[in-house]
Amino acid sequence: MVKAVVGANWGDEGKGKITDMLSEHADIIVRFQGGANAGHTIVNDYGTFALHTLPSGVFYGHTTSVIGNGVALNIPVLINEIESLKAQGVPEPKILVSDRAQIVMPYHILFDEYEEERLGKASFGSTKSGIAPFYSDKYAKIGYQVSELFDKELLREKVRRTCEQKNVLLEHLYHKPLIDEKELFETLLTYRDKIRPYVCDVSSFLWQAIKDGKEILLEGQLGTLKDPDHGIYPMVTSSSTLAGYGAIGAGIPPYAIEKVVTVVKAYSSAVGAGAFVSEILDETEAEELRKRGGNAGEYGATTGRPRRMGWFDCVATHYGCRLQGTTDVAFTVLDVLGYLDEIPVCVGYEVDGKVIKDFPVTPVLEKAKPVLKTLPGWKSDISGIREYDKLPENCRNYIEFIEKEIGFPITMVSNGPKRSDIIYR
Ligand code: GDP
Repeated sequence: MVKAVVGANWGDEGKGKITDMLSEHADIIVRFQGGANAGHTIVNDYGTFALHTLPSGVFYGHTTSVIGNGVALNIPVLINEIESLKAQGVPEPKILVSDRAQIVMPYHILFDEYEEERLGKASFGSTKSGIAPFYSDKYAKIGYQVSELFDKELLREKVRRTCEQKNVLLEHLYHKPLIDEKELFETLLTYRDKIRPYVCDVSSFLWQAIKDGKEILLEGQLGTLKDPDHGIYPMVTSSSTLAGYGAIGAGIPPYAIEKVVTVVKAYSSAVGAGAFVSEILDETEAEELRKRGGNAGEYGATTGRPRRMGWFDCVATHYGCRLQGTTDVAFTVLDVLGYLDEIPVCVGYEVDGKVIKDFPVTPVLEKAKPVLKTLPGWKSDISGIREYDKLPENCRNYIEFIEKEIGFPITMVSNGPKRSDIIYR
């Protein structure tokens, strides 16, 4: 059976923890989109890890970790991650990389920086990991598939053409140093040697695994609202964050995905610019939640940037779950809200004097004001509780109110960062 674990919101919902937890019963964990621009924070017996490229299942000896064709593969980052796991005593993981995955080139990272610099105030707040230039090149059909590293002569010729094109931009648009053809070619040969042990035909491997009845997890990055089609365009990421894309980015049949576990955080947070209707505008209030949030505060796993904080948004989350095709909601980081006397929840958007419940397109979203309903807090520490009925009444009311508003079943409640901090309903 194939299950997808994806986010309903702006990312950082705690997908890493949920994937890590579900991986206990999985044979294969697949990354199907995104690159090293986001990260998952995983806390387990080996320590605390921020993974950017490896799937969250790498800590289990029985799982195979797969980098699908849809991923923006940063080879040095992947190799460093493997080395750092080994250095911290994690047993050598089984890793497969799709021969159809494309490679983040050193110049993608530079172009990302240069473009943000050129845009100045109008910049996207990119993590400068090269993701947007990478996907632009992929769809402009001038990217490099892993398979292309293995034909030296074709590679040399392609590098020549790449330099010809990229150097025009570097010289005339960005006024930056040009790419050295020989150096780039040599770098790609080192990439080839590093990646060689992991490369295989992933879709064929997964096809067989599905036929053999293996448990496969597809691990998404970011969340619905960062999807390039259905998110808050243009403040989105460059590859689809939806479970449906899991079929494409892993190379499996769409009907193989039987369960979609959508991870939803008990409050909101977002990185980067863009509309964020339920944002907490009082900085003292926001900072209070930020420093208690997540496992080590709400600061980006890749960049360390403080995240923008908000109350739970039922409008965005209903939409986020709907686009994912949610079968189960995992409701996370609920323990963090135990300090609040009252908890506001956004139940509608007011736009031009009317209240709407459907998440709108970006120009309308920019005008939306939150309609807040305040629920009583539970004023206690719920971490350590393992049975739903043992949760304080106000806490259960908060969960059940949100479940009704978003219209998808909350089947798991996460009340701490560890694998065992979970309540099944
Ligand atoms: P991801 O990208 O969706 O995996 O999100 P993050 O890596 O930002 O994870 C959110 C943070 O919350 C991490 O630091 C996790 O360790 C932590 N976390 C996940 N679930 C819970 C939870 O239920 N309670 C607490 N306190 N922290 C959690």
